[in-house]
Amino acid sequence: MSGRTPSGMLISADWILPIATGPIHNGAVRVVGDSVADVGTLVELAAAYPEDTREHFAGCMITPGLVNAHTHLTLTALSGVVPPLPFVQWLPRLVAALKPWEIADHEASGVLGAEESLACGVTVVGDIAYGAAEVASASAAGLGGVYYWELLGMRAEDIKSALDALRFPEDPATYGTRVVCGLSPHSPYTAGPGLLTAVSEHARTLGVPTAVHLDESAAELQLLMDGTGPLSATAARTALGFTPPGSTPVEYLASLGALQGTTAIHLCHVTAREITLLAEQARGVVTCPRSNRYLDNPPPAIAPLLDAGLAVGIGTDSSASNHDLDLMAELRAVRDSERTLSAVTLLNMVTAGGARAIGVERHYGSLAPGKFADLVIHRVAASSEPEAALIDHAGRSTTEAVMSGGVWRVLSGDLLTRDSAAARRAADARVHSLEVLNAT
Ligand SMILES: [Zn+2]
Repeated sequence: MSGRTPSGMLISADWILPIATGPIHNGAVRVVGDSVADVGTLVELAAAYPEDTREHFAGCMITPGLVNAHTHLTLTALSGVVPPLPFVQWLPRLVAALKPWEIADHEASGVLGAEESLACGVTVVGDIAYGAAEVASASAAGLGGVYYWELLGMRAEDIKSALDALRFPEDPATYGTRVVCGLSPHSPYTAGPGLLTAVSEHARTLGVPTAVHLDESAAELQLLMDGTGPLSATAARTALGFTPPGSTPVEYLASLGALQGTTAIHLCHVTAREITLLAEQARGVVTCPRSNRYLDNPPPAIAPLLDAGLAVGIGTDSSASNHDLDLMAELRAVRDSERTLSAVTLLNMVTAGGARAIGVERHYGSLAPGKFADLVIHRVAASSEPEAALIDHAGRSTTEAVMSGGVWRVLSGDLLTRDSAAARRAADARVHSLEVLNAT
């Protein structure tokens, strides 16, 4: 029960939740190679494909691989390093915590993040990446999705040399068909207006997606409205050419032509006018409620975003502003703060909706013929209403098995491969970060 399926494999459980269609009781997924070939009841598929091998998971449910639509895998080793604080107090501590890190520390921490994601049933990420090695190791571990190369604190004309230095791939197939490489001009307070526009234009030229942290803290709003507040020094240092536009973050990005086609992350103070702009121009939005709470920011109301027709994904953000990468725990935070959202709607946001929000819905987010064979077997039982049971109980501790790209990554709740050298290096990096913070 390991490695690629040679011909066909029927994977069955008490319930299949394909997302593309309604739940199937006693359902099965047929996997051939790295893709889903069929979905139906076990009785139907067993009759249609009698030669297939079979794996049955009793007392379990199967969903598509979960989509963590915003994370920073390379910051995973910072778990518990920077305590919950208001954003403007947390940010300099994060910068200080990363001071002693070498590139190899980022890489080791990224491996840890990829492994932890898979252990939580996440097979697809919208990740903010800091270099090629991290993307290579995360994709080798089995994580697909979009890796956005981050650009900040530079002039527009420096984009190409920066991307060369970070080894942004010229060939979109460098990391295989499961990985899309995109760009992220970090935020309005660290990327000046010229850079925000130029990254957007460069991404369009390359045909790659973008994502941007937007409207996260009250300090960001204050900076854009009148140029004052606790982020003004950061902006003066890194957002080259910045002058306060006197408008809200979404309006500012739209005025620069940088909202078109992007994925906007956070939107903690989003207004009705901004939601209209987002619906007209953005690819989608991602909300990170537990990270927002960690940094004393208000999470946005999600119902108005969905009502406007936006694709809404959920992200854990990084381990520097969250206690874990458990996406189902993140979803429960959404449910607890917004009781009007149905279980079906909630589950959509960590599967098909999240895939749409980062633009990978063609390959991920649902179980349907032609999609990648990314699936999670949850040790959760239900006699009816499987979505509600899943949202109540699923998470890292109930992840029985995980497949991505037709390969088992987790079985009997255990990762099949772990990089122990990376784990040791990441643990050391964490200690060095704590030493720096304790000395200040
Ligand atoms: Zn982030």
